[in-house]
Amino acid sequence: MNRILIHSARLAGRTSVTSSDPSGWALLQDGALVELGTGERWTRRVSPGTEVVDAGGDLLAPAFVDIHCHGGGGSAFEDADGLDTVRSTHRAHGTGTLVASLVTNPLPALRQAVARLGAATADGRIAGIHLEGPCLSPGQRGAHHPDHLLAPSVAVLEPLLEAGGGAIVQVTLAPEMDAGLAATRFLVENGVKVAVGHTEADYATTRAAFDAGASLLTHTFNAMPGLHHRNPGPVAAALDDGRVVLELIADGVHVHDPLIRLLFTQAPGRVALVTDAMAAAGFGDGTYQLGELAVEVRDSVARLAAGGSIAGSTLTMDAAVRRAVAAGVPLDEAVKAATIVPARALGLGHGAGLLEPGAPAPVLLCPDGSLRRVFARL
Ligand SMILES: [Zn+2]
Repeated sequence: MNRILIHSARLAGRTSVTSSDPSGWALLQDGALVELGTGERWTRRVSPGTEVVDAGGDLLAPAFVDIHCHGGGGSAFEDADGLDTVRSTHRAHGTGTLVASLVTNPLPALRQAVARLGAATADGRIAGIHLEGPCLSPGQRGAHHPDHLLAPSVAVLEPLLEAGGGAIVQVTLAPEMDAGLAATRFLVENGVKVAVGHTEADYATTRAAFDAGASLLTHTFNAMPGLHHRNPGPVAAALDDGRVVLELIADGVHVHDPLIRLLFTQAPGRVALVTDAMAAAGFGDGTYQLGELAVEVRDSVARLAAGGSIAGSTLTMDAAVRRAVAAGVPLDEAVKAATIVPARALGLGHGAGLLEPGAPAPVLLCPDGSLRRVFARL
């Protein structure tokens, strides 16, 4: 049996409030967190063969929760045999709870992928499915195939929900299109979280979508109108609404650092760091597929081969936390944005985003947010 005792740590996310007490300890057995405490009692938990880790006041945080991820390690969730590669790649970077995002594709292909990932949700390898498309605005499609975009409707979405057997936890859609608000209400009634994204909606329409039950903004600032003082748009509508969680890709490419920091100050406790990672994350530069579209990755920046739109990221959650901290976000806030905030936004169970027995194995972070050690079994 593999036993690890970590002591002299600050414990984050235990009751969703970060502790400043550096006497925290945790006992892990075979990669599972079995006991937590503060003070000196940990010495009694050390038995022959126990690995003892002195955290030296560093932060022991819940495993990261990534609610927007398309791939990594050279594979994507669209690949029939890609799931375990994507999962282990992100696990090595601290992610313990992963929602699989699917890009826009023809409906039969999408249904097939949803059914396959539904099975992986049922056996606990992923926490659910996020449909990013096909109900997106052609004018803000980013790296989604224009031929396969569809206006939001119950007719499009209902068969997909059925194929997932309850595994679809999030749908990104453009609420300004045809039946966007009706589709939002339909999804929410069926227990699916709706994210406004890839949208041309103005402030009022975005507000109406939130009133209809939408509760997230997909990769804030990207694939939507920007903030304008006479036309405030979806970003202002989300900032203005305490019910809404704002996804953020903190990689220094998608959003400028000062805006990373500003978003955290303007929406405290409501920013969720996401990777939006595609296959090249944790793998390297080269040519990849995103759905049916070719993507060139150069210097870790992914762009469509045709047109040059940013096509997802090569980010991992540990790098997102580090970037947010470097941009001026306090470490504790960045950690919440990578754990409890996204977990709550989607209502994920199984200890997602928490530091407690039964939750995914925690991570140890340096004061600058960089990952010191992953305790999950890789
Ligand atoms: Zn997107």
